[in-house]
Amino acid sequence: MRLLFASAEIVPLAKTGGLADVSGALPAALAGLGVDVRLAMPGYTEALDRAEGKQQSIPLSDLPGLEGVSLIPARMPDTGLPIWLVDCPSLYRQPGGLYVDDSGNDRPDNCRRFALFARAVTQLALGLRPVGWRPDIVHVNDWHLGLVPALLAMQGGSRPATVFTIHNLAFLGLFPAQEFATTGLPPDLNSADGVEFYGKISLMKAGIRFADHLTTVSPRYAKEILTPAFGCGLDGLLRERAADLTGILNGIDYERWTPSDPSAVPFPYSTRDFAGKRRCKAALQAEAGLEVDPDTPLVGYISRLTEQKMADVLPAVMPRIAAQGAQFILCGAGDRNIEGALQAQAVRFPGRVTVRIGYDEALVKRILAGADILAAPARFEPCGLVQMYGMRYGTPPVARKTGGMQDSVTGFEAQGSCSAATGFLFEDSTASGLATAIDQACGVYRSPIAWRKLQVAAMKQDFRWRRSAQRYCDLYAALLAVRDARQMNDFGARQGAAE
Ligand code: ADP
Repeated sequence: MRLLFASAEIVPLAKTGGLADVSGALPAALAGLGVDVRLAMPGYTEALDRAEGKQQSIPLSDLPGLEGVSLIPARMPDTGLPIWLVDCPSLYRQPGGLYVDDSGNDRPDNCRRFALFARAVTQLALGLRPVGWRPDIVHVNDWHLGLVPALLAMQGGSRPATVFTIHNLAFLGLFPAQEFATTGLPPDLNSADGVEFYGKISLMKAGIRFADHLTTVSPRYAKEILTPAFGCGLDGLLRERAADLTGILNGIDYERWTPSDPSAVPFPYSTRDFAGKRRCKAALQAEAGLEVDPDTPLVGYISRLTEQKMADVLPAVMPRIAAQGAQFILCGAGDRNIEGALQAQAVRFPGRVTVRIGYDEALVKRILAGADILAAPARFEPCGLVQMYGMRYGTPPVARKTGGMQDSVTGFEAQGSCSAATGFLFEDSTASGLATAIDQACGVYRSPIAWRKLQVAAMKQDFRWRRSAQRYCDLYAALLAVRDARQMNDFGARQGAAE
């Protein structure tokens, strides 16, 4: 089975969030199951720097709208999987982040950047001549690549089957209607039956309407997005397509995220020996300017600072954490107002609250290893990876009862004892809801036997990719069977007509 897997971000080449983690680990797990998987991603500067085995570029310039674009074949530095980096220096090699400029604003040319990426991926999907490899399945992710299923659906004749994964429906890929011209779609799709969305265009809608099959990243979120509360205006379309929508829980990469990795964790540890975790906590408290005390519960938070992740309520939660004799350490970046409010709390509670604004994966891993409790609140959460990382590091999450959080965490309160619990779940998406759940976690932390049971149960969870990757494989196989049956029927019909 030949699979083209395309994503706007893939670790270790480029990352802003969980999409990159999934796009790095899932294809590797699929390759382990025998799938011939190849990747595609924009040729950002850091990706070109980090990719290995770069070969001569293949120009796409003879295709209308793709002048100045080329494909650079290379290999992933960790898994060795083949990747095509779509190269267009004026679009992908600009200063700033993957989607934002130096000032943190969305890039004004994002529609063109990702329309062009989608058109290049579509060419690859159709077996571009100089490449000489044609996939059976094209699996694309989130709004950045929503145009690919639409562009392929417009092709007559045989084409690969398409799978479109929704990692976060809240990012609709919305652009002014004038940008429609960059999509490469026929004009009649600039309508409600196509990609039009309340007077704009939505690239997410394109993927949802036209993919052969839709997936999202947890079973519960697959149900939630069919409702107006979570559907972001696309719930009606999603309900129409409900028979083609599957929720598959994300996994995590057990090699990259492990408390026994001496290159990332100052004092490695495991379920058999927690001494290292205690030393990691002391080291983190010292590094963060917190009072070094093994008995003070230390709460960590690592996330984008957005309303989705309830970062706006944290400034109100911090005084309560400090008052209850606990400590708080945060590493995150995002909304500038939230960043300022958080920093003000750190000034108010020295030695109790530490705020590190920025993107720092090394610090994230030290927090996972050194904190006792991981605050993982969210107003909605398609899957969420940080709560799984928390469990893997024996740092039980305090997560909200929604989406993938609910699918991956067994709440302490639901069990009444901690034999099956792996964390804490709360309902109210308010400062008080979160603070109460953190109080509860701190209370259990102060009972060492109960706490150790909870940690061990959390660490023994199996979130390896293998099982979920097998579900994707089964889905691909089912889609190919449908495609082959359709082709046989078409062939039979043509034969019948000729006779
Ligand atoms: P989302 O993709 O919605 O942001 P996830 O929980 O699925 O949330 O994934 C977040 C990913 O981003 C995790 O790998 C997490 O470690 C990483 N991350 C979050 N905040 C930071 C940060 N400040 N620095 C480095 N990595 C971060």
